Amino acid sequence: MATTIIMEPDIQQKLAILSEEAAEDVTEVPATQSIQQGIGHATGFVYNATQEGGAKTRLFKVLQTNACRYACKYCFTSCAIRRQRTTFKPDELATTFVSLNQQKRVDGLFLSSGIVPDANTTMEKMLATVERLRLREGYTGYIHLKLIPGASFEYVERAVELADRVSLNLEAPNQARLDDLAPDKEFASSMWGRLAWAAELMRRARQEGRRAARSLTTQFVVGAVGESDRELLDTVDRAHRELDLRRAYFSAFHPIARSPFSDMPAEDPIRAARLYQADFMLRDYGFSAADLPFDAGGLLPRDRTPKQAWAEMHLHEPIEINRASRQQLLRIPGIGPKSADRILAARRESRLSDISHLRALGVTTGWAAPYVLLDGRRAAVQLGLW
Ligand code: SF4
Repeated sequence: MATTIIMEPDIQQKLAILSEEAAEDVTEVPATQSIQQGIGHATGFVYNATQEGGAKTRLFKVLQTNACRYACKYCFTSCAIRRQRTTFKPDELATTFVSLNQQKRVDGLFLSSGIVPDANTTMEKMLATVERLRLREGYTGYIHLKLIPGASFEYVERAVELADRVSLNLEAPNQARLDDLAPDKEFASSMWGRLAWAAELMRRARQEGRRAARSLTTQFVVGAVGESDRELLDTVDRAHRELDLRRAYFSAFHPIARSPFSDMPAEDPIRAARLYQADFMLRDYGFSAADLPFDAGGLLPRDRTPKQAWAEMHLHEPIEINRASRQQLLRIPGIGPKSADRILAARRESRLSDISHLRALGVTTGWAAPYVLLDGRRAAVQLGLW
């Protein structure tokens, strides 16, 4: 009689499997040019990310396990797809990370997981990994920890205590879209509700001066189930207001072999780029969701940035750079928060009278020129490509 011998993967094999499957989570807002050219930021299991305060870090991105009881239709890890399943024990994963950190190959940890057998058991393992790092190994560096949908309050609380950033991927803008994308998941309580707990715990810790995670993020799958940009950005806008969300990430759908969506076309990556730009308008530029230039179908234009489209519709008179308020400056295409602040500082020293002055202050002058006056004169117009 033939005997089947099932070998438990060794640490290197687990590392290969569990870091590859962690790749779907986005850790860095990609530059528009990178999105267009499909340029990633990953080298094996190392991913670039930006910490609070802007410092760059190299993250070790990994799953605790790729076993999952759910069958989300877009997901590589879904239980509906036959593949080798494995799990890092907390000690194994903590030791692996410490070794990579000591070799100076990674600076931080991004830990996510498939869900098996349930949310709390999964979070227990993830928290045990992080506790070993913080308490036994004395690791004080950056940790981004995923919250598992449906996890109990005490696990969310411990995650907020131990991590620097916590996140939970909403995946879809509402329950109706989630039903098509991930039929086993529940939006209002087990996903949004857990983000709300985390937001409140972080707010309380800040008030009381306790150490806690400093930022909350989420991610959406874009283009798999017909959701509009308006639906996504209405939810993101609400998350900024109610959850003090630091960042929404947008992952353009791409079909996974043998998944229920394997025959569907990939989403245009430019759509994700436009969603990031619209989110910047909401978060950093003082626009509201009602200002965004959606078409009748609730989609943003793809051939220009949403701020350029807004300016074409609303900025009928050029704005005098030497008199504009910060809020007015931020409405001009090509001027962001940093360049607006530089303009305000520079014009306290001298009047800005030439487009080269704006270029030196970091303004994308090809975009800004049609909308500005410099000392009463229009600037020469140079059209930008993006
Ligand atoms: S819960 Fe869904 S998205 Fe998360 S690992 Fe399981 S199948 Fe994938």
